[in-house]
Amino acid sequence: MKDKCGVFGIFGHEEASWLTYLGLYALQHRGQEGTGICSTDGRRLHVHRDQGLVAEAYRGETFQHLPGHGANSTSGAGSLSNLQPLLASYRDGTIALAHNGNLVNARELHEECEHLGSIFQTTVDSEVIVHLVARAKPPDLGGRLLQALSRVRGAYSLVALTPDRMIGIRDPHGFRPLCLGKLDRAWVLASESCALDLLDAEYVREVEPGEMVTVTQEGLETRRFGGDASRSECIFEHVYFARPDSRAFGRGVNEVRVRLGRQLAREHPAEADVVMAVPDSSNAAALGFSQEAQIPLEHGLIRNHYVGRTFISPSQNLRNLGVRLKYNAVREVVEGRSVVVVDDSVVRGTTSRSLMRIVREAGARAIHFRVSSPPVKHPCYYGIDMPTYDELVANQRTLEEIRDYIGVDSLGYLSTEGMLRAVRGEDASGACAACFTGEYPVRWKRAPSKSDFEVETPEKV
Ligand code: SF4
Repeated sequence: MKDKCGVFGIFGHEEASWLTYLGLYALQHRGQEGTGICSTDGRRLHVHRDQGLVAEAYRGETFQHLPGHGANSTSGAGSLSNLQPLLASYRDGTIALAHNGNLVNARELHEECEHLGSIFQTTVDSEVIVHLVARAKPPDLGGRLLQALSRVRGAYSLVALTPDRMIGIRDPHGFRPLCLGKLDRAWVLASESCALDLLDAEYVREVEPGEMVTVTQEGLETRRFGGDASRSECIFEHVYFARPDSRAFGRGVNEVRVRLGRQLAREHPAEADVVMAVPDSSNAAALGFSQEAQIPLEHGLIRNHYVGRTFISPSQNLRNLGVRLKYNAVREVVEGRSVVVVDDSVVRGTTSRSLMRIVREAGARAIHFRVSSPPVKHPCYYGIDMPTYDELVANQRTLEEIRDYIGVDSLGYLSTEGMLRAVRGEDASGACAACFTGEYPVRWKRAPSKSDFEVETPEKV
């Protein structure tokens, strides 16, 4: 399971494309299949897109072709033709669009635009926005964008670039994060604040749900749109996706994860000698569990950071070896002991099952598997590439059946109420938790299917 994209933009700096390239490194965890940077020199846009990691997609000479004082970019998923930023010309100019999220009515709008004569170059749903912008009536770009966005439904955090401006937009529900920073006289937009830290930029604030910020040489302007839509910030950003050194939706991710772990220990205590994390995204939750349960935390599982993408093998035996490529147990920590293993989430359950086999083979006497989020029972249609209903281990299985499948002595998931309280405090409103509850904040006329979204990437272990 992965986020589909991280977006970044900077405007008003002479080294815009270099800084963007560095910012992309900080957002690499949000998408590894491909990346692109578009820059402006004030007259025209220049673009470079390539598949692979940020370290693979750019060379020193690439930046000679990305001149100027503004840039936007993504690290995300997709085939070469679907990589962002999407570059499009319309009657009054050129626009480059970087989009994090998914539109639940993209298919309907796509058909409508095609019926009216639009020719699509990609299969990414954000291209719909570009075609709607081209057809919009207002004379100014901001007005065109807002008219286009009044037609789309779903999740979008956008960074748009034209020759003379950068525009950051968050959908009225605020599903995906987008923060605003300042570096000297330049304004920066990023999916996560860790990208600002890397540049030594100051974190200013979140772009608010239903806000459009426009940056030009004259400074920054803001406009509101979307009426009184309810806030629906993705709870999974705090559970798993965002980096622990980031702020997401204005809250420190590490601090939230420690609270999730503490709450998990209160809800599902265990008699054990040691607590260990499934590294790295569960480290803070395991620390919280250990602190609350007063059981020592040790590094019982080690992750190999040098393994990139691994292609799934048809045979179960080779799939297990795929997990072993990434993780191994520390026998001295595990052997003869009763262990609590804390993971942030369980989606298909196949990785958990292989991991627990590794822990068992390292000599664990008992394994108490604890999950710092509730069972994932529903797919996400708002920008997270998640398995279908049939592939989710918690869909139509009892807790006992999941425990048996994963192969552990006890299993405890955090409750939905506990998760919401740990993330958002006493007022738990304002979050999307649809993949746990099935309560989708934005519905659709025709149920979106996986084929509506970009899924051309290889399956991963
Ligand atoms: S459905 Fe789940 S992953 Fe998707 S936005 Fe809502 S909380 Fe996030």
